[in-house]
Amino acid sequence: MNLTAAKDALKKYFGYDTFRPLQAEVIQCIYDQKDVILLMPTGGGKSICFQIPAVTMEGTCVVVSPLISLMKDQVEALRANGIRAASINSSLTYKEQQQVENDLYKGRLDLVYVSPEKMASQNFSPLLKAANISFFAIDEAHCISSWGHDFRPEYRQLRFLKKNFPGKPIIAVTATADKLTRKDIAVQLEIPEMEMFVASFDRPNLSLEVRPGRKRIEQILEFIGQRPGQSGIIYCLAKKTCESVAAKLLDNGIKADYYHAGLSSKERSQVQENFINDRTPIICATIAFGMGIDKSNVRWIIHYNLPKNIESYYQEIGRAGRDGAKAATLLFFSAGDLMTLRNIISDNDSQYKDIHLAKLERMYQYATSLICRRKILLNYFNETNFDNCGNCDVCNNPPQYLDGTVIAQKALSAVARLRGNVAQGVVVDVLRGSRSYRILSSGFDKIKTYGAGKDIRQQDWFFYLEQLVNQGLLEIAYDDYNKMKLTEASKAVLFGGQKIQLVKAETAQKRKAEEDAKTKSKRRGTSKRNRVRDELFEHLRRLRMEIAKEKGMPPYIVFSDATLEEMAAEKPSNETEMYKISGVGEMKMRAYGGDFLRAIQSFPSAEGAGGL
Ligand code: ADP
Ligand code: ZN
Repeated sequence: MNLTAAKDALKKYFGYDTFRPLQAEVIQCIYDQKDVILLMPTGGGKSICFQIPAVTMEGTCVVVSPLISLMKDQVEALRANGIRAASINSSLTYKEQQQVENDLYKGRLDLVYVSPEKMASQNFSPLLKAANISFFAIDEAHCISSWGHDFRPEYRQLRFLKKNFPGKPIIAVTATADKLTRKDIAVQLEIPEMEMFVASFDRPNLSLEVRPGRKRIEQILEFIGQRPGQSGIIYCLAKKTCESVAAKLLDNGIKADYYHAGLSSKERSQVQENFINDRTPIICATIAFGMGIDKSNVRWIIHYNLPKNIESYYQEIGRAGRDGAKAATLLFFSAGDLMTLRNIISDNDSQYKDIHLAKLERMYQYATSLICRRKILLNYFNETNFDNCGNCDVCNNPPQYLDGTVIAQKALSAVARLRGNVAQGVVVDVLRGSRSYRILSSGFDKIKTYGAGKDIRQQDWFFYLEQLVNQGLLEIAYDDYNKMKLTEASKAVLFGGQKIQLVKAETAQKRKAEEDAKTKSKRRGTSKRNRVRDELFEHLRRLRMEIAKEKGMPPYIVFSDATLEEMAAEKPSNETEMYKISGVGEMKMRAYGGDFLRAIQSFPSAEGAGGL
């Protein structure tokens, strides 16, 4: 087999013109009968790496996949592309299963997705032996290792594959595996000679933003208002937050639902189905949501609460923008969340407690970072990166510094005079000379620093205190009502004349103001042509929804957002031009290429769009 055949198949079946990094190399390995371990981030394009060999090689590729919903999703997407795929799992009736097994035996399948339990079962092994198998693909391969975070004992049975099918290549793919787990995958599968590929974990189409976790609902409503009709997920730490956030969205006329472990499995799959099919665009969910779905048109992710570690955070935001089109991510950070998580971890007497706390600490550093956030993420995954990304809030609005020595002195002195006995809010009230009952009744207006920071706004004081904490000059006693305390380092500022640099508070406000202005100008000032393009995209999206309903498949399987965007920009006017659009393969061209062509042609153009 050679790569020309692979490239032809990529266009024919998937409608794509070029391979993404590493895809061609991995495919070549399988053609050369080598075993492969492939690490690629979610949405990176792992599946193509075994699907292309599956359709170009003789025989059937057996894909081991741990989640039934994921199997269903992939099989549906493959069939929509004219690929002969099926799955065997416990959700099939006896008759359906017989049918698939028969097709496998007769060589009528390019791919068959099988659950690990089924793979390990006694009654499946004769069929495997009898069928003409091209190679094995193991999805979510980290499940085989007890070092990984999602160990599944059934996966251990897969070690018999190499023994029983010594000539068949194995490709193991995963999005999450540290060095230890990677090695262990090879050991467990008994494929010591494998080729290991590690793709970059960068997902440049995801924008990164962190905001203070104040007035979250207001901020979320504004965020969603700027993205009408888009699909998104709001991750919350607690079940009841999922419910209350969803309720608040509904109150504001936004269609949303919630998903958490407290729902029955029937309810959960209903919510998931509605999300996949774009019937409910927004889901407020605990972390379990989104694991087993391939929905490529999730356009944004919000973290209502701080995630436990960078791995989880990255995996969760990775569920946005799988189609490669732009997607937005927003993380709310608050000291309260940090404390809650610290408590949860500390109360848990796991032997890994210290590791979990250290990982949480890294998450915290990310959230409060003043350097390019993508740099931090990539460095975390051991990819040294020296360039600023230009697609995170820090890059878009680089912090400006000021001499914060006097500000620091005032704050530290207030904390000292309040004897480390009050939380942030009171410190700020004292600094600003508040006349509130809380302050006056405690006699805090008699303190020397009372009112010393009147000239600085309340929210700015919070911003500065946070920085002082990050610089180690103040401490928050999470185990003692969040009281602010001095540290060893405080002395140098209070008595040693130590100079302190702080990020100007205006940076944060300027950032918000600029963003608001941007959205406003986007709404008003964009050129007519762009506006028509956006409207054409919406028009095509509606057509996609109609077709999806009629065919009973999720809209993103009809065409991805990225494909619709390209159509709206290029406006193909005949079949040849339509076929050039990325994502338009032979099958889809035949099935609904004509419908989309007609929709584009009948849509008013920018020139003739007087009525728009
Ligand atoms: P993963 O399994 O790594 O999460 P997928 O294989 O589902 O990722 O791919 C993510 C998205 O990218 C899918 O919509 C897929 O069709 C698309 N994709 C994969 N490879 C390419 C490519 N070479 N060109 C364009 N799009 C691609
Ligand atoms: Zn950046």
